[in-house]
Amino acid sequence: MHASSNFKTTPYWWEEAPLSDINPNGKDLPKESEFVIVGGGFTGLSAALTLARAGEQVTILEAQRFGEGASSRNGGICSGNLKPSLETLVNIYGMDFAKKIYEEGVLARKFLADLIEEEDIDCDFKMVGRFSGANHPSHYDKLARESDYLNEKINLGSYMVSKQDQHDEIGSDLYFGGAVREDIGGLHPAKFHKGLLDRVKEAEVSLHSQIKVNEIVQNTSGCLVKTSYGDIKASKVIVGTNGYSNLSSMNWMARRIIPIRSQIIATEEMAEHVIDKLFPKRRMHGTTLNLYNYFRPAPNGKGIIFGGRSGADRDDPVRSGQHLYKQLIDIFPEIDGVKISHTWSGYTGYTFDHMPHIKQQRDIVYAGGYCGSGVVWAPWVGTKTALMLLGSSESKTTFSKSDFETRPLYKGTPWFVPPIIWWYAIKDKFGW
Ligand SMILES: Cc1cc2nc3c(=O)[nH]c(=O)nc-3n(C[C@H](O)[C@H](O)[C@H](O)COP(=O)(O)OP(=O)(O)OC[C@H]3O[C@@H](n4cnc5c(N)ncnc54)[C@H](O)[C@@H]3O)c2cc1C
Repeated sequence: MHASSNFKTTPYWWEEAPLSDINPNGKDLPKESEFVIVGGGFTGLSAALTLARAGEQVTILEAQRFGEGASSRNGGICSGNLKPSLETLVNIYGMDFAKKIYEEGVLARKFLADLIEEEDIDCDFKMVGRFSGANHPSHYDKLARESDYLNEKINLGSYMVSKQDQHDEIGSDLYFGGAVREDIGGLHPAKFHKGLLDRVKEAEVSLHSQIKVNEIVQNTSGCLVKTSYGDIKASKVIVGTNGYSNLSSMNWMARRIIPIRSQIIATEEMAEHVIDKLFPKRRMHGTTLNLYNYFRPAPNGKGIIFGGRSGADRDDPVRSGQHLYKQLIDIFPEIDGVKISHTWSGYTGYTFDHMPHIKQQRDIVYAGGYCGSGVVWAPWVGTKTALMLLGSSESKTTFSKSDFETRPLYKGTPWFVPPIIWWYAIKDKFGW
């Protein structure tokens, strides 16, 4: 990282949309609530909005400040990506179900766009498209095959750009061409979270920050939600804790979610002509590496937001930032020396089958596992979870159908991630 950088270790997004505490440390905590939601990120807020608009009494309990999990830390790329390719899902589930899963992505992306418009949320949302650069010639061929298959089966309108033409998409020579998806956009995640939170407040949801749920006990008359500031009786509980599920000993969810740290750096502002050259269409960007990078221009069009793995899963934001800085300069050598203004990290929630899940266990519903693509999936899944508890015919989703798997002895500490990252780094070095 540039030696004279004077950077912050909080998210760039918090400058424009700072986080707030609401009724912290057990203030005005109700003794009873029809619905209790654990976690105040996109999942919890979307579920709460749907329930409250249906006239239900709802309480959200958040262990940190609202949004302090992944929802105000992410890259803001609205992909609704699924880790397994359509072809992989066809091999596992057969064509009909696999197509339904991918078609749900189309619906979820539209749902997000409609939600932002209908709720009048000011969050710099733009459908700018995404370019995925091929890091190896063989990756270009793989992208082309996947693109053809997606277009043939669900008409996504994906198209390839050759190395020769890639400067129309990105001011870099690192790639061997790439694929464009016009149906992907970007937003300012903390402004989106704040907008949702404002709507939830207006719907009179009871909101409480800095309160950790330690246990949920199910009995014949519903649930007893045990918190650090007393117990709350609830008929139903939604757990939307995703990558932060191991914050307490509520271990059903923690046993199914693999928290994986993702790191982001933001650059200082640059001249407009520089950004125009690097991002001619102001698109979102991705790569084909196993340890892939995601990046984009900042919504104000003046700097770069650049994310990826933090090296060997390091805790140190400076060393992790340096690791990312080197990758940024590999892509855009001409900005070597640009200063970093922010470096921060957060936890994404992966699952053992790399798919999101909704699982009802009597009066508790667990929702999460977006594998780094929750900007689109979390509002969709949170809303579906609420609709499910309301008994609505609109609640159908493929993510409630399959098993939310765990593995023997796994309790929420992903000891196996560092060796996997190490193996992925070797594969990336050789273009495998
Ligand atoms: C660095 C980074 C970059 C990312 N980039 C992208 C991107 O560009 N595009 C994209 O689509 N997705 C991205 N993601 C993923 C996306 O941010 C998440 O999938 C999404 O925000 C998940 O929302 P959520 O509400 O389920 O979880 P979160 O926002 O993580 O909220 C869960 C909340 O639960 C709370 N909690 C946990 N345990 C308890 C407890 N016991 N009691 C009370 N509260 C509790 C936590 O404090 C936390 O605030 C990124 C994630 C990270 C970390």
